[in-house]
Amino acid sequence: MTVFIIGHRFHFETENLCRMFYPNSEVVLEYELREVSGDYIITSMSTSSELSVLNVEAHIGGIIEKSERKAIACSDDEAEYTLALCLYDCLTRITGYTPAWGLLTGVRPSKLMNRLIDEKGDEGAKEYFREKLLVSQDKTQLAFDVAQAQKQIFKENRPESFSLYVSIPFCPSRCSYCSFVSHSITSNNAKKLLVPYIENLAKEIMITAEYARNNNLRLESVYFGGGTPGVLSAEQSEFLIDTIKNNFDMTFCREFTFESGRADTVTEEKLLSLKKSGVDRISINPQTFDNTVLELIGRKHTAEQTVEAYRLAEKIGFDSINMDLIAGLPGDTVEGFINSVDTAVSLRAENITVHSLALKRSSTLVAKENTELARDMTAAKMIDYANKTLSEHGYIPYYMYRQSRCVGNLENVGWCLPGKECLYNVYMMEEIHTVLAVGAGAVTKLKAPYDNHIERIFNYKYPYEYNTGFDTLLERKNRISEFYSTYN
Ligand code: SF4
Repeated sequence: MTVFIIGHRFHFETENLCRMFYPNSEVVLEYELREVSGDYIITSMSTSSELSVLNVEAHIGGIIEKSERKAIACSDDEAEYTLALCLYDCLTRITGYTPAWGLLTGVRPSKLMNRLIDEKGDEGAKEYFREKLLVSQDKTQLAFDVAQAQKQIFKENRPESFSLYVSIPFCPSRCSYCSFVSHSITSNNAKKLLVPYIENLAKEIMITAEYARNNNLRLESVYFGGGTPGVLSAEQSEFLIDTIKNNFDMTFCREFTFESGRADTVTEEKLLSLKKSGVDRISINPQTFDNTVLELIGRKHTAEQTVEAYRLAEKIGFDSINMDLIAGLPGDTVEGFINSVDTAVSLRAENITVHSLALKRSSTLVAKENTELARDMTAAKMIDYANKTLSEHGYIPYYMYRQSRCVGNLENVGWCLPGKECLYNVYMMEEIHTVLAVGAGAVTKLKAPYDNHIERIFNYKYPYEYNTGFDTLLERKNRISEFYSTYN
């Protein structure tokens, strides 16, 4: 699909809205009108001294829809909003689809809700979501509930607070929907990379701790994510955790999460070692409790193994366990997903995170699957069931985000039993403090202590680059001190 951007600069919002309606189409932006074959949309703005005229003309699948609005002496923000509204009008008419999140294309609805509550109060913020952004009543309430659940965590955050993220980009095998740069640990290549990777990771942890000390930062939470950190042996994870504990000041650390991830990596020895090392929160992620779907997506474990791993972790004394579920997996049905939600609820997992499947171009699945609309409707029913059931069983939504190319433009929501919120998820998603990140694919996010300025430092994406370019990578870390001396 070609989208013409004529006389305005709102290409970002325009492209995002088109993707919302056509998540798997290629969107090509053009800045001068010309003849094209196939589907196209013209978005244009013409401005005289007092008046802007915003125009959208969509030619899709043989249907033509036009929408025009005038705005008098409008600001950039108003013009962008008005153009988005014109485009939204046309695309809802052509597709017959009304997105539950309305015009909201951003990835952090709760961050916006938090800001609006500060500016307009509770009712004003909800009204803005509903009336201006055309977000449905249910999704508005969801974003509002998330904002409420985060209030106390925001209050306890301090200007010097930060979290540590440790990236383990290795997995037992690769899932078909995955776009993450994770290496399957079964390949010889990955096996060779792992040992030097862990050595370098330990060095990076030590150097990062030095930056934290020199800048008087206060560690609030540690998160081992991936990939599947559970692929590490008990000795390997113990070594990395000890390196953290020996180098960072752990006095104020309130949470230590380790994503065990998949049931096929969980053993009693590993769980005992994590417990002994002071890990107080783990993830055991079923994604689904349907064995046929698990096989289809390339997971090498069964639903029964997930339940066993969960019971084992409970027996060992973990009282904060997260389970990830995904709505919209290939081969899954509404009934199958209902069973997955019911199973996670019956286990009384303290955290249940419900994701909507996002099909990135780099996943192997995207090439095979092209039944987007049917799957969208199914995923929406699944998410509705999850939201209703989890609320009924005493879970509260406490963090959320959206991804592009998500089935049905739906959301990912972390639910928990009250008091069992994962602090790291809130810190990171709402960007309320710095996250120092180590390992391949990790992104350090520096947040200015007294305003919302954010800067990122990117580590090398792949483990082999990380191992070979390690010295260059360490140089980039100097930015941490420069940043704090500028913004403190
Ligand atoms: S376990 Fe997670 S990170 Fe690893 S391949 Fe599967 S989806 Fe990707």
